[in-house]
Amino acid sequence: MLASVPAKDNTQWTHLYNEVVATGLCTGCTACIVACPFHVLGYEDYKPVQLQEDGPDKCAHGDKGCSLCTLACPRFREWEPEIDRLLFGEPRQPDEVMGHVDEIVLARATAPEVLMQGQDGGVVSALLIWGLENGEIDGVCTSKLSDERPWDCEPAVVTDREGVLAAAGSRYTYSPNPLAMLKAAEMGLSKLALVGMGCQASAPGSMAARRVNKWAKKVHWTFGLLCSKSFTYDGLMVEIAQKELGLDLDEIVRVNIKGKLLFYTKDGRELTYSLKKSHQYTRPGCLRCPDFTAEHADLSFGGLGQGEGWTLVIIRTPKGRDLWDRAVADGVVEWRPGSEDEGAIELMRKLAVKSLERWPSEHLSEGSRTPGLVPVAEGA
Ligand SMILES: Cc1cc2nc3c(=O)[nH]c(=O)nc-3n(C[C@H](O)[C@H](O)[C@H](O)COP(=O)(O)OP(=O)(O)OC[C@H]3O[C@@H](n4cnc5c(N)ncnc54)[C@H](O)[C@@H]3O)c2cc1C
Repeated sequence: MLASVPAKDNTQWTHLYNEVVATGLCTGCTACIVACPFHVLGYEDYKPVQLQEDGPDKCAHGDKGCSLCTLACPRFREWEPEIDRLLFGEPRQPDEVMGHVDEIVLARATAPEVLMQGQDGGVVSALLIWGLENGEIDGVCTSKLSDERPWDCEPAVVTDREGVLAAAGSRYTYSPNPLAMLKAAEMGLSKLALVGMGCQASAPGSMAARRVNKWAKKVHWTFGLLCSKSFTYDGLMVEIAQKELGLDLDEIVRVNIKGKLLFYTKDGRELTYSLKKSHQYTRPGCLRCPDFTAEHADLSFGGLGQGEGWTLVIIRTPKGRDLWDRAVADGVVEWRPGSEDEGAIELMRKLAVKSLERWPSEHLSEGSRTPGLVPVAEGA
């Protein structure tokens, strides 16, 4: 069984590097980079790298007892039961393949411009705007379209309705949104919403569970996006969009995944590409990720409902339940029961199981779950 990480321990960058980065478990979420107070780590090719000379795994601050990068990591050792215990009071049961679920609903924004800008039902954006405008949050760490490359994306801090709407929609390349927390801190913001896929949505939980308090305390809402993978930019936008489909990137208005890759153009065309064929362009950091449903978010959001224009929402934590009920009461979103789309829930369950199978068995710890398997027994 894997060792657990007490809040003060002797693990440090060398352990994180050798157990998570070098083994391919690192998703590139950047929680370690955010937590490092000494600017030891940079970000290259979607991974943390040691900037200072003794690298790749020898940190002088780590040798003196600093373990913040390791403690912040949402993939280090017993990350999953530790975060589950913090958020839900206990590790999950083996059959809880989608993590802890309070309720599943299908929802959409009531404001037409939010619904129009959103990827699915615009629910993420509607809640963010509502939170900013009523002062519950003072900033959002999310992603925006890149200024450098068309249809790439990058972390961004947004603080108002216009910013949220400009950032709405999904990009299928990787944006390490936790990195925006550094900018948010520079801006003096302290009541943040973090939006991100499961790899990123577990970061506030790992920080809180292991008392990386400086950063954990800044995140008030954690919004997770369902995700089975992201793609490399060269794979998605160069090889598939430009070379295989013959698209000019300027003519694309929306990209989506609904059982296949979908590209929509300004002149109303819909071009499709097989998800199976696209697998070769999966970003390497996604290949071992076991979390399809963003299991440590307050609320998780996905687009796999059968009807267009609705977001499937998983209400998970008491905080998520509270903010959801109040947003509904304020008329920000409308909803119907998830049971109206049993096919979507079954598909979500299947995709959750598929993702779980990616996690290497030698890295299972007690309290982790695998599809249909029991957790690794004591002494195993
Ligand atoms: C890479 C990726 C893969 C996904 N895969 C699936 C899937 O397989 N099945 C499924 O059901 N749903 C998937 N989703 C979620 C889905 O696309 C929608 O984000 C979700 O349904 C919420 O829709 P909405 O209209 O409520 O959100 P919106 O109101 O449109 O808000 C979306 C938010 O996501 C942020 N965002 C967009 N792109 C990224 C990115 N690359 N990285 C980080 N943040 C980003 C935006 O900035 C915005 O804040 C995926 C999302 C992403 C980004």
